[in-house]
Amino acid sequence: MGILLVEDSRIDRHQIGRYLRQWNFDFVAVANGNEAWELLQKPDAPGLILLDWMLPGMDGIELCHRIRSLGADGTYFYVVMLTAKQRKRDLLSAMAAGADDYLAKPVDPSELRARVLVGKRILKLQQSLRFSATHDFLTKLLNRGEIVAGIDRELARSQRTGQPVAILLADVDHFKQINDSLGHAAGDEVLKQLAHRLRSELRPYDLAGRYGGEEFLLVLPTCDLRPACNRAEQIRVSVSKDPVRTTFGSIPITISVGLAIGRPGTDVESEELLQEADRALYLAKQKGRNCVQTLSASQASAGN
Ligand code: GH3
Ligand code: MG
Ligand code: MG
Ligand code: MG
Repeated sequence: MGILLVEDSRIDRHQIGRYLRQWNFDFVAVANGNEAWELLQKPDAPGLILLDWMLPGMDGIELCHRIRSLGADGTYFYVVMLTAKQRKRDLLSAMAAGADDYLAKPVDPSELRARVLVGKRILKLQQSLRFSATHDFLTKLLNRGEIVAGIDRELARSQRTGQPVAILLADVDHFKQINDSLGHAAGDEVLKQLAHRLRSELRPYDLAGRYGGEEFLLVLPTCDLRPACNRAEQIRVSVSKDPVRTTFGSIPITISVGLAIGRPGTDVESEELLQEADRALYLAKQKGRNCVQTLSASQASAGN
């Protein structure tokens, strides 16, 4: 989590930069608001911004307003406004523009360090809250709300790119027996390790979430029926290859998978796609479990 220093005065920029370097803080320095704005829109942008008030072009207040319009995905930017102005009214307008804190120039090193440390602490807390709100506590995969939102996002993207998106609904076979014979804690361990196995089969841009109790949703962007069947089959095999080792002993597991494809130009919504995957999953259970099924017209002889 880096720091972005936006300061047009070369002297101030170097001075603050020297302090930050001295304390081993990771930072990038830019001399104007436009450059800063470009940088902040990139993924992995710095989260803590030391922002000079008076800048050529877009000034600190305007940039601050813009920063607050970012973060639709939940990213928070912590803004410390740097200003030579000491008048209360100006500080208030900085806070009203969305600044989290301010620092008078010329900066006092201990004050600067204190502000940066507080900012970092707040950002860390914010990240951990954000993680809890979007992830399942047990498996650390995306939670139901997030994975369904992920399907919607991928469907929208698929309309733009013209590429289909595959969704896989995977359900552990006879999971209740594990709970009944070895206890709920053993069941929990199985779910955790299954989540790990699922995740390890995915590519960085695929999504994995816990849909419900022992049901998991995988979203594979840019994946048509045939490759999706192959990948689902691969995942099914890799999950069941070795028993899951738990503190309660080794537990063999298998999954049944329902597969559905969202196609561009069909106006399909996540809800319909989920229903289709659910019906395919039901079919997989009927066919004896431990297999992949799809309802797609061109039935790509999935699993079985
Ligand atoms: P099927 O092959 O038809 O899917 O059978 P199943 O036993 O897996 O399905 P069923 O729906 O009968 O049972 C699912 C069980 O999953 C029931 C529920 O108690 C258990 N379960 C749901 N969430 C959790 C959890 O977080 N931890 C544990 N240990 N068990 C859970
Ligand atoms: Mg300035
Ligand atoms: Mg189930
Ligand atoms: Mg089950």
